[in-house]
Amino acid sequence: MEVDKKLVKILRNIAILLQIKGENVFKANAYANAADIIESMQLDVRDLVRQGKLAEIKGFGEALVKKITEYVETGKISFYEKLTSEIPVELVTITKIPGIGPKKTKLLFETLGIKTIDDLEQACIDNKVAKIKGFSAKSQEIILNSIQHIKAWKGKKHQFACFQEANNIDILLKNIPEVIEHSLVGEMRRYSEIVSQVHFLVSTNENQKVIDYLQQQFNLILDGNVITFSTDEEIDVKIQLTEPKNYIWLLHNLTGSEKYINSFAKYFTERTSQPFNFEQFPLSNKVLKSESELFELLDLQYIPPELRENELAIIRAKEKAIPKLVSERDLKGMIHVHSSWSDGFNTIEQMANAARSLGFEYIVICDHSQTAKYANGLEPERVIQQHKEIDELNSKNIGIKILKGIESDILPDGSLDYDEDILKKFDVVVASVHSHFKMSKNEMTRRIIYAIMSPYTHILGHPTGRLLLSRESYEVDIKSIIDAASDYGKIIELNANPYRLDLPWEHIIYAKEKGVKIAINPDSHDTNSLTDVFYGVKFARKGWLEPNDVVNCLSHEEFLKYINSLGKS
Ligand SMILES: [Zn+2]
Ligand SMILES: [Zn+2]
Repeated sequence: MEVDKKLVKILRNIAILLQIKGENVFKANAYANAADIIESMQLDVRDLVRQGKLAEIKGFGEALVKKITEYVETGKISFYEKLTSEIPVELVTITKIPGIGPKKTKLLFETLGIKTIDDLEQACIDNKVAKIKGFSAKSQEIILNSIQHIKAWKGKKHQFACFQEANNIDILLKNIPEVIEHSLVGEMRRYSEIVSQVHFLVSTNENQKVIDYLQQQFNLILDGNVITFSTDEEIDVKIQLTEPKNYIWLLHNLTGSEKYINSFAKYFTERTSQPFNFEQFPLSNKVLKSESELFELLDLQYIPPELRENELAIIRAKEKAIPKLVSERDLKGMIHVHSSWSDGFNTIEQMANAARSLGFEYIVICDHSQTAKYANGLEPERVIQQHKEIDELNSKNIGIKILKGIESDILPDGSLDYDEDILKKFDVVVASVHSHFKMSKNEMTRRIIYAIMSPYTHILGHPTGRLLLSRESYEVDIKSIIDAASDYGKIIELNANPYRLDLPWEHIIYAKEKGVKIAINPDSHDTNSLTDVFYGVKFARKGWLEPNDVVNCLSHEEFLKYINSLGKS
């Protein structure tokens, strides 16, 4: 079963459009809540409508059920169609610009007739936005800046959002008898955090039959051997056809990044004295059977696709120094998860049981600290109560050890969010920035280094604060932060939430060089998203991490021993 993403998107759009229209916020939010419920409970809406059971689910009132039923039966919601005829749907994108929101979007629409991002950009350039009440020259500048990011992100998707679609196409290709072999290539195969297309390579002797088959399913655009189309999810797909004799060569060449391929090409020519040819294997007397064979032929160690980003892979493959990368099976500890004590959806016991059934030995509960009021952060008294609950659960031997952690805010001056007598009660302190993002680079760097220096800090949480495709990292000198973690012997988090994947892989490589240990943490707020930790593992591989570099690979005892060796002495 798959969640109907189109419906979820329509419901979210309705919520925002109603707010722009000036409707009651509660009425509008009912649609957004329904979208959240469908996603978090993985509801099969079609099935529920068919069985007449949708109304039994909390949050689905009569009006909502009627609209969803119409959608299931006709593929449309006439209420939504009418709404978008009154209010341009592109305004939804404008509400997501930092500092704008539905109310200001309404103002921009009504006073300046702004309907699109382009309209808004032009109005900023013409200095019209700064003159509207509620805006200023400063906010106009911030908006203009954000628009530039949004434009750079246009057409790009989170890698995880393309998996399902890639899988569907994979199955489709498997069922075409004329397809001899096929594989994902490009960004998806390298596990890039952001992808601009889902790219497949197909080996076949009968191009036309493959094209005919795909044409029954999609609106294809043909350009020689290259087929492109867009899915219902607005994901761009490219399928490249090749004759079998060039398949392995192209598989390799289409997988690597441009930087990687440039250094590979240089090495290839040095090694074989043949000019590099991207399309056709230059050693024409040979038909390659696998990528392993190709690497062997060139006296290179096999390079996993995730590492085919730059010259480093070629250098290490020449030296036969590519390590055994960390894998899902290596993880023993689930660190940095939230519970219903702060802003999580599940109890500590539920989170622990879910982690246990994924095969984990220990879990570190890290709820929000007292300053994070918006997230129901824990005041000192509630910390004590929570610890009592954890002690009780541990005494019941539920098959997984629960550790007392906290995600402490890093306050603007760099200090942690509790007095020492509370801080010393935690087994693990993750320190994270959650507020005052707009400091200068120097101030932010100093703030974070100060937090790293605290004897109570063990792990620095989501170190750059980036939210992929929606928020740039805060201004910070990340190299200095990594240097400080190295100097003070502290751990840096690789936040595995697929919207974050923070630390970026380029910096993970640097952290490893500096001997900094990494914690791969899901930052889950419910049991379902504990598996996000596995996105983190894939991403850690891009940063060349081995089990030795990752603190979650330590057993419960080893982990505690390691944590206790940090800072406190
Ligand atoms: Zn956080
Ligand atoms: Zn968190």
